[in-house]
Amino acid sequence: MSIQVTSIKTQELFRDLPKKLLIDGDWRDAQAGEPLETRNPATGAVIGSVARGRPGDIDLAVDAARRALNGPWAKLTPFERQEILLGLADIIEKNYDLIAAVDTMDMGAPITRTLAGRRRAMQLLRYYAGQATTIHGETLRSSVAGDPFVCTLKEPIGVVGAITPWNAPFGMCVWKIAPALAAGCTVVLKPAEQTPLSALLFGQFCLEAGVPPGVVNVVTGEGDAGARLAEHPDVDKVSFTGSTSTGQKIVRASASNIKKLSLELGGKSAHIIMSDADLEKAAVAGAAAVFNNSGQICSAGTRLFVQAEIHDAFVDMVKAETEKLKLGDPLDPGTQLGPLVDTNQMERVLGYIAKGHAEGATLRTGGERPQELAQGSFVAPTIFSNVTDDMTIAREEIFGPVLSVFRFETADEVVGRANSSEYGLGAGLWTQNIGTAHSIGRALRTGTVWINSYQSMDPAVPFGGYKMSGYGRESGSAHIEEYLQTKSMWIA
Ligand code: ADP
Repeated sequence: MSIQVTSIKTQELFRDLPKKLLIDGDWRDAQAGEPLETRNPATGAVIGSVARGRPGDIDLAVDAARRALNGPWAKLTPFERQEILLGLADIIEKNYDLIAAVDTMDMGAPITRTLAGRRRAMQLLRYYAGQATTIHGETLRSSVAGDPFVCTLKEPIGVVGAITPWNAPFGMCVWKIAPALAAGCTVVLKPAEQTPLSALLFGQFCLEAGVPPGVVNVVTGEGDAGARLAEHPDVDKVSFTGSTSTGQKIVRASASNIKKLSLELGGKSAHIIMSDADLEKAAVAGAAAVFNNSGQICSAGTRLFVQAEIHDAFVDMVKAETEKLKLGDPLDPGTQLGPLVDTNQMERVLGYIAKGHAEGATLRTGGERPQELAQGSFVAPTIFSNVTDDMTIAREEIFGPVLSVFRFETADEVVGRANSSEYGLGAGLWTQNIGTAHSIGRALRTGTVWINSYQSMDPAVPFGGYKMSGYGRESGSAHIEEYLQTKSMWIA
């Protein structure tokens, strides 16, 4: 189905979507319980409701995934898995207008942003399709008497629980599931309760692409469904993206069967502007790094460190860029910032803004809900300057459009302060000095450092956290490894 995104009516769009649980290749009702409502955060209106999967539904899905792992799926050649992934890519590409519209209405991201996700989804799917045929072990020469033949086999890790957040609903499905399929795993997907719709579309497209029954199962539901996946004794691996506190619960739950985990958790990324930077470009990036997706990005550049001699002028430039950003109806192609995902998140962000005031930071712009958009969960992009490292807004992940600005004098000082966060996901640095780029880039304790840009992503480039931002890498060949295990085989 191809649609005109400018003329969408919520009810019409919802009517054609699958709303049940996808288990073993069938759409099924949840075993019990009230359905789960999902709302359009731009208007507050209920879009519709989907099945509320509970732990018992997860158990059924895990059984299906286990059977599928041991079934015909295991016999497919790498090339056949590649063909399925390429077919899935074609179906998703054809339906991307619909996917973008669904995510825009379900989570509030501007339509230009969700439509731009088409390119990344295609790159991811086709990259991992290619990876399916490159998986290989090694032959090794041991020193054991008799010179046995030794090789390593790379085997799929097994049944994967994929637990996703709401900040990039469809993109997260692709990012987690395509490499799992390339590796030969089977999957139970539990999307975020705030944004379940496009995950159901993903399940539908998998069926259309000929993914065998039980290989991809989709159970919409809340935290109890996610918790069951994390503790389930027959799930071999959980791949989770979400908050650090939920990540900690998953680590504890995984102890039941020593599950393998990949965790992509919170962030409080430093964005460092040296006085020799290209200030015009850095100012545009400084605003975009934190305000894109209304700040709902784990690697958002939320701590802006500006060298003292350019501090005041640069903060004015970032403020001017910020005030150009157009908030509004996310379906309007002119809109750059939509609402936050729901009123809970809006209240949480407003709570942090109140703390910024109370702890003595200086509000430079924003700081409130725009009155003309009162029906939705909008918060104006907000900048605080004179923030000190111990303030709450300097330390905690806000996951909303709030920038904290800090003044620094020297490179050593800023590295120490940037690294003082318990998180270590991303960092940005602007300088025209190649030596500074290398020395600060190496000293930052984060999984990614962007120098003279911010937030570039590529399927071939690993992404993930240091410290409490998690472990494991997504993208790149490292991602496929997350879904494989190594068997050493000795033939005497
Ligand atoms: P947020 O607080 O930003 O909503 P969460 O980390 O709580 O983010 O949610 C991310 C995903 O984790 C969602 O799919 C959610 O349902 C799921 N989830 C919530 N609680 C748990 C839990 N205890 N175990 C596993 N998954 C959970």
